[in-house]
Amino acid sequence: MHSKLCSEEYQYYKAHLSLDSFGLQGQLKLKEARVLVVGVGGLGSPCSLYLSSAGIGHLGLIDFDVVERSNLQRQIIHSNIEVGYPKVISAKKRITEMNPHIDLKIYDEKLSIDNIERIFSEYDFIVDGSDNFETKYLLGDACYFLKKVLVTASVSQFEGQITTFYPEEDRPCYRCLFPHPPDIKMKNCAEQGAYSITPALLGTLQANEILKSILNIGKTLDSKLVLLNPLTQFYKVIDLIKDPDCPLCGPKPTITKLSKVRVEEQMCHYLDRIEPEELQIWKTSEKEFLLLDVREPFELEIAHIGGVNIPLQELDKKLPDINSYKNKDIVVYCHHGARSETACKILMDHQFLKVKNLSGGIDKWSQDIDSQIRRY
Ligand SMILES: [Zn+2]
Repeated sequence: MHSKLCSEEYQYYKAHLSLDSFGLQGQLKLKEARVLVVGVGGLGSPCSLYLSSAGIGHLGLIDFDVVERSNLQRQIIHSNIEVGYPKVISAKKRITEMNPHIDLKIYDEKLSIDNIERIFSEYDFIVDGSDNFETKYLLGDACYFLKKVLVTASVSQFEGQITTFYPEEDRPCYRCLFPHPPDIKMKNCAEQGAYSITPALLGTLQANEILKSILNIGKTLDSKLVLLNPLTQFYKVIDLIKDPDCPLCGPKPTITKLSKVRVEEQMCHYLDRIEPEELQIWKTSEKEFLLLDVREPFELEIAHIGGVNIPLQELDKKLPDINSYKNKDIVVYCHHGARSETACKILMDHQFLKVKNLSGGIDKWSQDIDSQIRRY
């Protein structure tokens, strides 16, 4: 370990050095740490800024994209004059100006099965700032096999989630939470819209997770998933448990080595929707259909509009329970319509033929149909 900081570093980190849980030893631990940030976008921007200002000694950034003007609203590490330049170049310029005391390595390439072991070999902590399933599953699997700490987060419009996975046998892994990638193309931020504050919060929380993990202080999100929505001030911590049937870390794994994660990039089914007004007509008529709520049980306690509750994560296992609806109408709903879209795809992949997604979820129902339904 470095035995000391230079005089400029003492000045730079003075506020940290005065903290009980940091001190000189803590700051030196940060200086020794090796952290890789995957993706320098909405999450990676605040995360890498705070990691570098905190004094992470060895920081890697990987991204193969270039800066676009439409990124700047939330990808705050980049600026107008860098539009068209590789994101890692732009990020390096900003970080170096801010804190020249760190060893910063950039990778202007796409993380893949071919380069991940080489790149990961230089780091102990991985930040997932990616925005696609292919990378998220690749990171989840690689961190499990290569024994890295993974701080993963994702954002969808106003909502987001974050958790930290530790590569220990008794801890859940990414696939305990999400066993397989959904068979759908994830819309990008420009298509679905992106509220800038959500990645700002989550990226900063990711840096927080890394600092606590390195310093071994406070409480990390070990086996905890945080869901948040800054628009509604919704904040929920969910306990994660190890899945005994996990395809990666379970006793009978089906994934035994790092391999390419196959995510269907093409929408191969037409996804049908139903508006709240039409569902209301269905509900008040004699029509036979299954109303399927794929939210978590705690959300059911907040508000519901009836139907059968099967949380999205359990849907695969519980499909036999609803087998009698293979040829009947099914309307799926969640909070805003994103999880139910994934559920619809799962159902369609299992030959459920008449599946519809409730547009806007229970939230839109509350706004359009029944204001007594509590919004959250
Ligand atoms: Zn697992």
